[in-house]
Order: sequence, then structure tokens, then C-alpha cells
Amino acid sequence: MPLSLPLPITPLRIACALAMATSLAACQTSTMTSNSVATSTSSIATKDLSHSTVNKNTLNKKTTSKKSPSSALAMDMSGRHEYQLENGLKVVIKEDHRAPVAMTQIWYRVGSADEPLDKGGISHLLEHMMFKGTADISSDDYERLIAKFGGVNNAFTSYDYTGYYELFPANRMPLALELEADRMKNLTFNDKEFAKEHQVVMEERRQRTDDNPLAKAYESFRLLALPNSPKGESVIGPMNELESIKLSDLKDWYKTWYAPNNATLVIVGDVQPQEVLAQVKRYFGKLAPSNVPKRNAVTQKGFRGYQKVDSEQAVQVPVLLMGYNVPSLVTAGANNEKQAYALSLAQDVLDGGLSARLESRLIREQGLLTTVGTSYDFLDRGDGLFMIQATPREGVSLEQAQQAIISEIEKLKTDPIAADEISRAKTNAVTGLVYAQDSMEGQARMIGSIQSIGLDDRLLAKLPTKLDGISVADIQAASKKYLVKDNLTVMHIVPPKENTTKAQ
Ligand SMILES: [Zn+2]
Repeated sequence: MPLSLPLPITPLRIACALAMATSLAACQTSTMTSNSVATSTSSIATKDLSHSTVNKNTLNKKTTSKKSPSSALAMDMSGRHEYQLENGLKVVIKEDHRAPVAMTQIWYRVGSADEPLDKGGISHLLEHMMFKGTADISSDDYERLIAKFGGVNNAFTSYDYTGYYELFPANRMPLALELEADRMKNLTFNDKEFAKEHQVVMEERRQRTDDNPLAKAYESFRLLALPNSPKGESVIGPMNELESIKLSDLKDWYKTWYAPNNATLVIVGDVQPQEVLAQVKRYFGKLAPSNVPKRNAVTQKGFRGYQKVDSEQAVQVPVLLMGYNVPSLVTAGANNEKQAYALSLAQDVLDGGLSARLESRLIREQGLLTTVGTSYDFLDRGDGLFMIQATPREGVSLEQAQQAIISEIEKLKTDPIAADEISRAKTNAVTGLVYAQDSMEGQARMIGSIQSIGLDDRLLAKLPTKLDGISVADIQAASKKYLVKDNLTVMHIVPPKENTTKAQ
């Protein structure tokens, strides 16, 4: 049952509440329990918007009954305007006049996948420091200004980007621009503030990962499954690396990556584009571009042979993790983009709602599992993982659960896929996107995340057509190519020995 997955399959990013030194638990993890083609990132935790996670399966349950053909659902690209300032800042403005508010998001093209091998977590630590004030606006003033004018704000860090946002009444949107432009270049780095925030972030790691058996297992699973990729390491970074980061490292990281030519500014709301552009020029136009380095390649050689490990963790019940190394839309390349779309549809056939194969067959018909969920994100800057997570029913071993899942994957490659399964998968893929458009936050997030992985968000408008062009043969070909044992990493997560006799 995907909704009750015990572990966020893809803890893509860390979203932080205002990294207040006084509140060790200020950060909120925003994770996906199951990704969809729609949402490369699913939610931004904010103080006022939501800490909830978007779960594709939640969307599915709301939408699958309609059986709309995917082509009938179009992404609304009207009111979208794109500009580039002379200093390289990309600006995407999307008019949405449904409510008198405006979401401003700035997305820096830097994240944990760009970090040096010995500085894991530096992007996220810098994200915290970004709330510590500039020469002109102190940390306290920043907070006061946002509160005084009815705004909410937050930040987030992922493998491929670090972002900041403010939601204001539309007429206060220029304040968001002023604040973001100011801290793009004028951040103050204070030893005392750093010392406090360093502790905050290490505590965040303890709470989220070290004290969470499944998160810990998942962190080591990624290292095993993605040994050559910078995405093998967690966004928050290993404790020893986090500990070793100095204030001077953060300053360097900031100077290297925080520049107008390495950012996308996204504004969605009740705004007039020309007025917004004038304000953007006013605040950002004077900032100088930098020589931004080329980003790390995010590739992972697949087909390294079958790998399986057992991991003893303080879990209540055994958990199975399986991951296949797969390309994304970016790494598949234009000639092979069908593979990425096909894998995405394969994921939906297996796990797109209650009637999808894994749930209907392995949970309800055969009674082998109590939970199962999958994830695959084709909107990714690098190669990724096609993940499956399951909890066997009591009396069923992890090995039996694994074999049952593999058997379903084998059937996917050879047995017919019914028309209604395909149609549901295509509809699911697109409805997730349409649903995300309901909020200004969702629209801005889609634009910013897709821009940050080097793609044009207008591809969303073409998505229904692209998916309609994928055949059963394409799905089977992609599954035969990538969902194979030689390309599989498995982890059997088991409770400490004394508790395992019943379950194992
Ligand atoms: Zn944080």
C-alpha cells in the first residue's frame, strides 16, 4: 500500500524552516514517498503552506477513476514569460490571477551532487547560513520584514539545486526580490553564527538519519547502488564531513555558485510581467556574474552485476529495498528519450494506484506483502534509480518477497499489458502535473526544478503527446534493458537478531 510506505523512497531534498539557531528541529524534511513523472520534487515544506508530501498515489486515487486520455490533459503554459538579464539571470514569470498573492522562488544550480568528495552537506549548510543576514539587512530585520508584510518563506536543498522562496501579498512581491538580490551577493559570514548553525545542522542529521533506522539503511543503500555517482551520498552529508566544514569553505562555496548567471528566478502569481521585470532589473540587474564552474557529471555505470546486502537496523519489521540503475530524460539523451518515458510508464503499471499490479497481485491476491511502493524520476539531471520498497507479510521472507516482485517485473517484459493499464499509466503521469499546477507553489516548483536540471519547463506542455507516443513494445523494451538482475542492488533490512525469528 504505497500510502503507508514506512520509508520515503526518495528523500530528494531537505527543506528547512528558517534555520533558527534556537530551534534545533527547525528543518522539515520534504520527501517523496513515490515520485511521479510530474514531480521531480514533490513539495516544499513551509511554515504556512504545508509540510505535507505529495504522493503520486494520492493523486492517482483521486484521478484514475476518470480515465481521461492523457492527451486530453494539457499543461497550461499561458501567461508564462521568460527573460534573461544581461548578467545571465534567467527569469520565468507565470501569471496566475486566481488569488492576490505572488510566489517568488530563486533556484541556484548547485546542490549536494556538486559537492567535493570531502565536503558532503556543504550546500545544505550554506542554505542555513543564508538566513544569517547581510551587511544591510540583519537576520532579525529579515524576519521582521517578512512577518510585517504578511509573507512566508523557506528554503530547500537537493542534489541538483538549492532554493529560497517568499510568498507575499502580490503588491509586496518586490520585497522578496530585494531580499533575495541582497543575499545573493552580500551575505555576512559570522564565526559565532556559523558555530551555532553548524551544530543545528549536525543535530538535524542526527534526528533525521542517525536516529531513523530506515533512513540510515536507505543512505547506505544509495552508496551501494550509486558508487560512482555524486548522488550516492545523502543530501545532508556524512557526519564526519559535515563536522569538518569550516566557515571559509562556506564562503568559498557561496562565492563559487551564488551568482545571477547560476540562478533561475521564478515568480508565479497575481502580477503583471512587465512590472515584475522592471523590479527584477532594479534589484538584480546590478549584480555581477561569476565564472561558475562546470557541474559534476551525474552518471552511474549500470550493469555492475547483482549486489545484495543485509542490513541489521532497529526496525520493527523487515523491509526490502530494490534499485535498478536507470537513465533519466537528461542522461538518456534526445535519441533515447523514449526509454525514460517508458520506464516511467512501467513504474505506473506496477504501482500506479490500487489496481496496479504490485498492489493488486502481491498484496491483495497473493497476500505476500503488506506494503509496496516504487519510485522513478525521469526529470533528473543524472542517472537515477528505479526503486521498489516492500514489507513482506508476517511469515513471508524478504527473499520470497523479492522473488515475487521480480516475477512481476519479468511478466511486465513478456506478458501483454492491457489497454486500460497503459491508459491509466499515461493519465496518472499527466494528472500529477496538472494537479501540481493547482498551487502557485507547485507551478513555481515545477518551473524551477526543471530549469535547474538543465531542461526547459515548457516540455511539460509536450508531455501528453510524448507519453501517447510510447507503446507497450517501448515499455517492454526499456524493462528488458534496464530491469535486469545484472543491474540490480538489493538490501534486506532486518530487525536485530533477537527479534527476527518470527519474521524470517
Ligand atoms: Zn536544514
